[in-house]
Amino acid sequence: MTGRDHRSADAAGADGRSRLPPWLRSPQGSAASGRAVRRRLRAGSLSTVCEEARCPNIGRCFGRGTATFLVLGDRCTRCCAFCNILRGEPAPVDGDEPARLVAAAGELNLDHVVVTSVSRDDLADGGAAHFAAVVYALRAGLPAATVEVLVPDFGGRRESLDAVLAARPDVLNHNVETVARLYPRVRPQADFDRSLRLLERARRSGVSLVKSGFMVGLGEDDDEVRALLATLAWHGVQAVTVGQYLRPRLAALPVARYVEPERFEDYREAGIGAGLEEVLAGPLVRSSYCADDLRRRVLRRRLSGSPLQAGQ
Ligand code: SF4
Repeated sequence: MTGRDHRSADAAGADGRSRLPPWLRSPQGSAASGRAVRRRLRAGSLSTVCEEARCPNIGRCFGRGTATFLVLGDRCTRCCAFCNILRGEPAPVDGDEPARLVAAAGELNLDHVVVTSVSRDDLADGGAAHFAAVVYALRAGLPAATVEVLVPDFGGRRESLDAVLAARPDVLNHNVETVARLYPRVRPQADFDRSLRLLERARRSGVSLVKSGFMVGLGEDDDEVRALLATLAWHGVQAVTVGQYLRPRLAALPVARYVEPERFEDYREAGIGAGLEEVLAGPLVRSSYCADDLRRRVLRRRLSGSPLQAGQ
């Protein structure tokens, strides 16, 4: 491994979450606001990836009235080794879900709505028609809101991606999650090149922002992180999120290293140097973390005609 190695007995410990470094203690948001978000989600029988994935930012995001909706049920057809979402018999597609989601997003006053799903390899289109239905419903019901979709790879079906893009989301996000070398262990049913092809196709479609994200702490080294950022830029990705992997449950992969905050600054510089328009990198960054801010920053910079330079 090159660079500083943060592997420790603590990181490799039995629960992988004990004695977390201080920079990983999650900031808490407003408890009252968080309770209001939860109440609204329960009332609409809606799920969020924030809760299902045990995101460490939940206090902060719910506290500022934001959440990432999880559609197509809370059971996944894949078994990625980093994820907390349960594998199991997937629920039937709920045709009323788009309308309930729009109602909840409206009541929560969201101006940027992020929607993701479990992988639905049991459905012929991987769930693309439902994603598209959600985007169309948001366009009709909340025309002032912008929409970000964080999509699975749809098993590589190009027509599924095209169906989602035809609904004209503002941001198309698809996470590569880790470096290609670790796919067999981390994402055994996924394919790195398939994900790159999806991102490239999204870029060619003209969607205004193509985004991806990955975690560090799964066994990659810093050279691989830099190479991955350059690969994503080369394949048309415009913005990338990079965050620390945290083991969500005992059966999940242990944390291989805790990366210090300053190293995330290096990743950001490397990504900007490779031609990405924005890199949001930090221990607690997740793919939907401050998604509204990230999009606004990219658009402001485009309007001002001054691309970000490495070091800014
Ligand atoms: S970072 Fe994303 S997934 Fe995590 S709580 Fe915030 S909105 Fe939810």
